[in-house]
This record gives sequence, structure tokens and C-alpha cells, in this order.
Amino acid sequence: APDSADAVLEGLDPEQREVATALHGPVCVLAGAGTGKTRAITHRIAYGVRAGIMQPASVLAVTFTNRAAGEMRGRLRQLGAAGVQARTFHSAALRQLQYFWPKAVGGELPRLLDRKIQIVAEAAAREGLRLDRGELRDVAGEIEWAKVTQTVPEDYPAAAAKAGREVPRDAAELTGIYRAYEQLKRERTVIDFEDVLLLTVGVLSDRADIAEQVQQQYQHFVVDEYQDVSPLQQRLLELWLGERDGLCVVGDASQTIYSFTGATPDHLLDFRNRHPNATVVKLVRDYRSTPQVVQLANGLLNQASGRAAAHRLELVAQREPGPVPAYVEYGDEPEEADGTARRIRKLLDSGVPASEIAVLYRINAQSEVYEQALADHGVPYQLRGAERFFERPEVREAGVALRGAARAGGNDALLDDAVGLASQVRAVLGSMKGGGWKPEAPAGSGAVRDRWESLAALVRLAEDFGRARPSASLADFVAELAERAAAQHAPTVEGVTLASLHAAKGLEWDAVFLVGLTEGMLPITYAKTDEQVEEERRLLYVGVTRARQHLCLSWALARSPGGRASRRPSRFLDGLRPGSAGARPGAGSVVGGQGGIERGAGGGARRGQPAAPRQRRQVRCRVCGRTLTQAGEIKLVRCEDCPAELDEALYERLHDWRT
Ligand code: ATP
Ligand code: MG
Repeated sequence: APDSADAVLEGLDPEQREVATALHGPVCVLAGAGTGKTRAITHRIAYGVRAGIMQPASVLAVTFTNRAAGEMRGRLRQLGAAGVQARTFHSAALRQLQYFWPKAVGGELPRLLDRKIQIVAEAAAREGLRLDRGELRDVAGEIEWAKVTQTVPEDYPAAAAKAGREVPRDAAELTGIYRAYEQLKRERTVIDFEDVLLLTVGVLSDRADIAEQVQQQYQHFVVDEYQDVSPLQQRLLELWLGERDGLCVVGDASQTIYSFTGATPDHLLDFRNRHPNATVVKLVRDYRSTPQVVQLANGLLNQASGRAAAHRLELVAQREPGPVPAYVEYGDEPEEADGTARRIRKLLDSGVPASEIAVLYRINAQSEVYEQALADHGVPYQLRGAERFFERPEVREAGVALRGAARAGGNDALLDDAVGLASQVRAVLGSMKGGGWKPEAPAGSGAVRDRWESLAALVRLAEDFGRARPSASLADFVAELAERAAAQHAPTVEGVTLASLHAAKGLEWDAVFLVGLTEGMLPITYAKTDEQVEEERRLLYVGVTRARQHLCLSWALARSPGGRASRRPSRFLDGLRPGSAGARPGAGSVVGGQGGIERGAGGGARRGQPAAPRQRRQVRCRVCGRTLTQAGEIKLVRCEDCPAELDEALYERLHDWRT
């Protein structure tokens, strides 16, 4: 370990050093992906501590996920600055609240509710409304949005309209459910996740003595991923800070991807207005990616519009040239998954570790084909931020319904061709309790849509299966599902990462596969307004900038083998993808190598490869991602560090977005 504070500055460029040594006054770092923002703030803390200017216990570093917090603590330890608090807003607030509650309110902090959906359902019932599970989750999501944007029930309809929210029910009904939900929580003396922040804000604003105590404890605040801070988190930060200015924030407006939850880059972009004496540092050197990847990222930013885009900074590549990004067009989706698995196999064989490879997609329902293809090729994988396809609640429910129908003996006169099996499956899924499947996708995003997508993926499996085996019965299909589930469940320790683009934030891999890049998927169909489409473009920017070296962008023209080739590549690739209008010759290649669109070959036989060797069962904490070792059946896994009693909706949200 280095033995003087200055040693911590080695390995930083001049601008990063400026960040690391600006220990007094507000500091704002505006910089693109891979420019070393996270590194700069970590070294800043280490420098401050080792120079004796910051007491470790007086620093609060706020990160976006518990996992990122854990990584920062580890890094700080390595840099000789152990004992610094690195937490998410929630975990920092929860600790403070638990500590101050007896003094501020008396008694113990109310329990964090563990079945939020249940309470939302009861609240709806009080309002005389019956909602299915998906609707309940979407309503819960709206209540969360209202709370993080500090919107009271009465103001919800106007605020939701102004923000262009897709309201899952009538806005007035939502106001009623929201109010009843808050009332029910009071009656039962429980609080939800947002209450943790709201109550902390309440205690700190009402009790000057407590605010002072917190302020005495913490002198230095550092916030990573500041572009995705919510108004409520910002309020909390202001209360922590008080009149002082020991605040350092870093962010990239071009990576704002959580607007739909109430986050906004405005706090980042307005930082200098709020803190006129702030040191503002811009970092432009990209240390993560090859020039080829950086060129593509810059190309994407050049096409962006809106407030975030106006603040973009052109990235300047620092690394040696690497492979040209591959653009691969496949005939259909299973082919795309198979082709991706083959490329991954090749990388593994050439020595790239599985943990250095990621497959990123827009929505979690896309994971199924990739889980299957990787299992077929014996490639270990792990999902980040979501359950494996066959472990998702709606897929389990569907499995139960299909097994029941198969046992009841489907009418085999109906099942004489492929259409028979698929329509039988559609019928069974359509009659599921708690919201049956319908052929039409529900409008908007959210849990109803996610559920629909999963069930639609099952219907597509039935269609493909029926086509491949025209005489298949429902029982055969059920057996096929069981087989797939078993293959996909092969537990792995370190595998290829499968994750949604949202869950990939802040991370990096040697090789990144961005899959399913078609119109309708990216931008996703329900992104309608210009702002929503811009957020979709930023998602692609986040995806591209996760790659250190190998980047592969792919899409499939048809959904299933032999299907109509009706899809077209994402509009975001226009002008970048070789051969598209406006693309420069050799787009995608900076040095050597002439980029062209490759045609992905079909994989032929998909089955029969040996499955991944069985490994000791290791699981990750579903909340912070830390690896835990356990035996036996695991339901809800979480480590001691994570807040206890997470409710189901929160748990799912953490899955989707935060871990
Ligand atoms: P993101 O916007 O994706 O969160 P970031 O700006 O936080 O990215 P980091 O994750 O801090 O970027 O850094 C990206 C990569 O570049 C990391 O692997 C980091 O170790 C490396 N890196 C950063 N700065 C330097 C430097 N001065 N010299 C060498 N490597 C660096
Ligand atoms: Mg970062």
C-alpha cells in the first residue's frame, strides 16, 4: 500500500487529480462514461483521509446500489482509507432513522412492511376496486413515484399528467388508493421504503438538534451517479449538508436512465447555479473502452437531443485500438441467441473469463432465449437484477396452470397441428387467475407489461415447439418446459452476466453483447414522447459504454424461424451501422478492419450439448449482489448488511433496477 497521501494521486490524470485534491467547497464533476468518475471520487476520499483532512467517520459516500457501495468500501480499504461509510441513500437514511427514532418520536422505528402489494390490494379494496396482480404492482410503482417526487395524494392527478405518466388506473382512483394505502400503514404501524427517506427528511427538518447531530457526524458528502438522484434524495442531501459546502457530486447527464422512477438530471445540471462557488471539473479521457467503442459512443451522443444532450462531452479514447464493433443481423431470435452463445463460446475458448462477458437487453423477458442458448452451449451464466426466467412468479404460475390443463387431458382432437398446441397454451394462459394473458400487449410499461411479456415468451415457445414437433401434445410441451427450466437452473459460480441495460449502470466488461436492437425493443414500443425516446437512446449509450474491448450489436429480422422478417434494426443505429444512410465509410472502424454487417448463421441443432458442470451452490444476495454460500432451497436471500424485511414490490424493483 502506498505510504503517503500523494501516492493515492498516482494513477490519476490532471483533471482527476483536481477532483481528488479539491477537498474544500462544493465540487461537481460532469463527465462521460468511463472517464474515471467513480475512480476519482474514491481516490479523493482516500487522499483526504490519508492527508488527515477527512476523518474516515466524517465521510458519507452515496452510491446507487448496495453492491456499488460494497465495492467502494473494498477499494477504499485497499487505498488505506478503511472506515468510511459508503451507502445508498436508503441504507444511510435507515440507519439514521433507527438511531434517532426513539428520541424524535419515541419507541422503536415501525417495522418496514414486507408485503406491500398486499396493502395496496387492501387499499384498493377499501376504495371498492379489485385489481389484478400486475395492476397492483403498477399502482405500487405510481405511489412510489409520487412519494419520491414529494407528491401528496391530492396532487397526484395533476402531477402525473404534467409528468406524462402512464397512469395504470384512473388518476382519481389512484389518489384514493394512495390515500387509503397511507392510512392502512398508519393503522398497522408499518412503513415502506420511501417512508424511510420521507421520515428522515421529516425528522431532520423538524428537529434542529438532531439535524445538528447528523451534521456534526458528517462533514464530507460524495455522491456517485448524481444524474439519477430523485427530488426526495436531493432534499435529504440538502438536509445532511445544511449551510455547509462539503459536497462532491459526479454524474453524466447522458446516462440518465431512471427518469421514469422520478429521478432527474436537473440537480446535476443546475449544480453551479445552486453553488456558485463550486469547482466544476470535466473529464473527457475515456479509460475504459477502445477507440472503436468510444467512436460509437460519441456517434450516439451526437444524435441525441434534449437537455442532457446539450451538456454532452466528446469522449477522447486513451486505450489501444481493439476489435471493430460487430454488427450482426440474424434471421430470427433463436438464431440470434444461438449465434451470440457461439461467439461467447469462442471468447471463452480464447481465454476471456466468463465473468468478463455480458449480454445486455432492454427488458428482462428477453432473457429466456439467451438463458436457453447459453445452457445449450454449456456456458455458465448468472442473471443480474432479475430472477431466472423460469423462477419468475408469473412463469411459475403459468407452469402450474399448464400442468393442471395437461393433467386434465387436453382434448387431443384440437391438437392435430402446431396451431393446436399454441392455441391451447394461449387458452390456458388466458384463463389464469390474477390476470390472464391476452393477445394484445397492454399499453404502457410496468409490471402488467412485464408479466404480459413473460407469458408472451411462453406462447412463442409453444408456437416454436409446435412447429418443430407438429404432433406434440400439451403434456409434451409441459415436459419441454420442465426440461428447459432444469437446464437453465444449472447453478453457477462465476458466469457470463445476463442483465437489462438498466442493471448494467456503472459496470464494465471486456466483452459486451447488446442484443435485440430492433425498433419496438429499443426504443421500446411504449416510449412515445420525444423525452422517452431520448431516454431509450441513453440506455443504448450506457450499454455501448460498458464494453472495454469487444462489442457486438445484434438484431433479428423475424421473431421465430420461418416467421415474417418484419423487424428493422433500431433507429439509433442509423448513421452508425455500416451501410445505413449517413454512415461514414467503414463506420465502426477507426484503425484497420473494415466494419460491415455480418449475417449471423443459424445454429442448426440446438440441443444435446453437455450442460455446465454442477458446481457448489452459490447464490448472491438479491439486494446487494454479494456472494453467499448456502445449501438447500433458497427463497429470499439477503445478507446481514441489507435492510431487513424488504417488501415484495421493493424486492422486485431492486431486482429490476438497482442491483
Ligand atoms: P461510468 O460513467 O460508467 O460510471 P466512470 O466515469 O465512473 O464510468 P470508472 O468506472 O471510474 O469510470 O473508470 C472506468 C475505467 O477506467 C475503470 O476500469 C478505471 O479503473 C479506469 N480508469 C479511470 N481512470 C483511470 C486512469 N487515470 N488511468 C487508468 N485507468 C483509469
Ligand atoms: Mg461510475
